[in-house]
Amino acid sequence: MTSYRNFRTELDAGKTSCVETLAGAFHKIEEQGELNAYVTILRERAEAKAEEVDRKVKEGTAGSLAGMLVAVKDNIALKDVRLTCGSKILENFTSLYSATALERLEAADAIIVGKTNMDEFAMGSSNENSYFGSALNPLDRERVPGGSSGGSAVAVASGTVHTSLGSETGGSVRQPAAFTGTVGVKPTYGRISRFGLVAFASSLDQIGPIAHTVYDAALLLQTIAGHDPNDATSSMRPVPDYTAGLESADVAGMKIGVPKEYFIEGMEESVVASVEDLKKRFQDGGATLVEISLPHTEYVIPTYYVIATAEASSNLARYDGARYGYRSPNATNLEEMYEMSRSEGFGEEVKRRIMLGTFVLSSGYYDAYYRKAQQVRTLISQDFERAFSEVDLILTPTAPTAAFKLGEKTSDPISMYLSDIFTAAANIAGIPGISVPYGTDPTTNLPLGAQLMAPHFEEGRMFRGGAWIEQIVG
Ligand code: GLN
Repeated sequence: MTSYRNFRTELDAGKTSCVETLAGAFHKIEEQGELNAYVTILRERAEAKAEEVDRKVKEGTAGSLAGMLVAVKDNIALKDVRLTCGSKILENFTSLYSATALERLEAADAIIVGKTNMDEFAMGSSNENSYFGSALNPLDRERVPGGSSGGSAVAVASGTVHTSLGSETGGSVRQPAAFTGTVGVKPTYGRISRFGLVAFASSLDQIGPIAHTVYDAALLLQTIAGHDPNDATSSMRPVPDYTAGLESADVAGMKIGVPKEYFIEGMEESVVASVEDLKKRFQDGGATLVEISLPHTEYVIPTYYVIATAEASSNLARYDGARYGYRSPNATNLEEMYEMSRSEGFGEEVKRRIMLGTFVLSSGYYDAYYRKAQQVRTLISQDFERAFSEVDLILTPTAPTAAFKLGEKTSDPISMYLSDIFTAAANIAGIPGISVPYGTDPTTNLPLGAQLMAPHFEEGRMFRGGAWIEQIVG
C-alpha cells in the first residue's frame, strides 16, 4: 500500500479503483493473518462502500478521503459491528451506534476495512494484554508492535491499509508508530470528538491517526477533528487546513526545545544517538536548538498511573454482567453475578488497574495519592507552558528503546509502564504530539521514532516539523 496521497492521484486519474485496491488489501490481510492485526474484518461492508466510492469518483462527487482504506482500533464504535476493546467481557458485544469520528470518515468517503487488535481496554504498551493474543511486529515477528494501538500500527506498517485510527491515553498511538516505522499523532485534548470511543481515562483519552506519511495523518486528522454536540469536551475551535504548506515545510528560524530530563538511564544508545543526529540536522536546517527543562518529568509516570487507574476504575464499573457483554454462567445470585462476571471477564492488567484505581480513590488514601497526582499534573502542565514561552516545538525520542521482544516485559509491569516515559506527559498536559520515523537501531535494524510536541491546538506547526523530518530522511 502506498501513501493515500499517491493512491488518490491514481484514483482520480482512473489508473486504479477502490474495488481493485480493496481486493488487494483483503488478499494481504489473509496472507499476513499471523500478524493478528485484526479482530474483525468488514469485508462486505467495505466492498459496498468501495463500489459506491468508485461511482462517486466517476461522477466527480467523491469526498476528501475517497477510497482511503482505514483500519480502526476496536475501542471505537461502529454501528452494528462487534466492539470488543480486546476484552473477553465485550467479546460478543455489538455497538448500537457509530463514533462521530467514524461517521465523519465515512461521510468523506473513506472505507473502513476492519477493527484492530489492542491491549485490553487500551491498557498496555505491547499489545500483549489482548484477549485475542498479541499482534506481531511485521518488521520482526518475535517482537511486539507496541501498544495499546498495536493492531492499528501493524495494519498500516504491514501495508494492508493507507491509515488507521488508534487511541491515546498515555502514548498508545505514538509508541506503536515508533515501533513499526509509521507516523502516529496524538492531537490536542478536545480536538477530536470522543463520542463512541470507549472510555479508559476520560481526562486523558484522545483518538489519533496512524499513517505512512505526515501528510496523510494531517489530512485524516483535519477530516475527523472539530466540535461535536455529542461530546461536551470537544473544542469549538475551527479546524485549520493541516496539510497546507507541508511539501515545502521548513524549520529555518524555528526554536526547538530539547528537554534535558528526557535523557534517562535505561535508554538505548541508538535512541540517544538518533536524537543527537536529528538535533544537528535541525541546526543545519536553520533552526535554533534550546536546552529546556521540564523539571517535573520524573513524576510523569507515577502521576499518569494514579490518574489513569483512578479514572479507569470508575469508567469500567459499567461492566457488571448486567448491562454490557459477558455474564458469568456460574453465578447463583446478584452479588455473584457482578463478582464472577468481572473476575472471569477482565484480564490481569485490567484487574490490577481497577484495584490500584479504587485504592487511590478510597477515603484515607485519596489525599495522599489522587489529590497529590492532580496537583503534580498542574505542575507538569506548567512546565510545558513555561517551555513553550521560549520554544516553538519540543523534540524528544518517542520511546526509550526500539520494539522489544514478546514476553520481555510481561512479568514486570513497571518496566512496561516505563515505555511511556516520553509520551505520557503530552496526555497529562493535553498538548499534541507526533512520532515520525527517524533513525534505526543498528543491532536490530528496527526503526526509531522522533517525537515533536507543540502547544495546545498548534498541530499545524507540529505537522510542518514532522513533514520536514520526513523530507530530510527522504
Ligand atoms: N501504555 C499506557 C498504558 O498502559 C498508555 C496506554 C494508552 O495510551 N492507551 O496505560
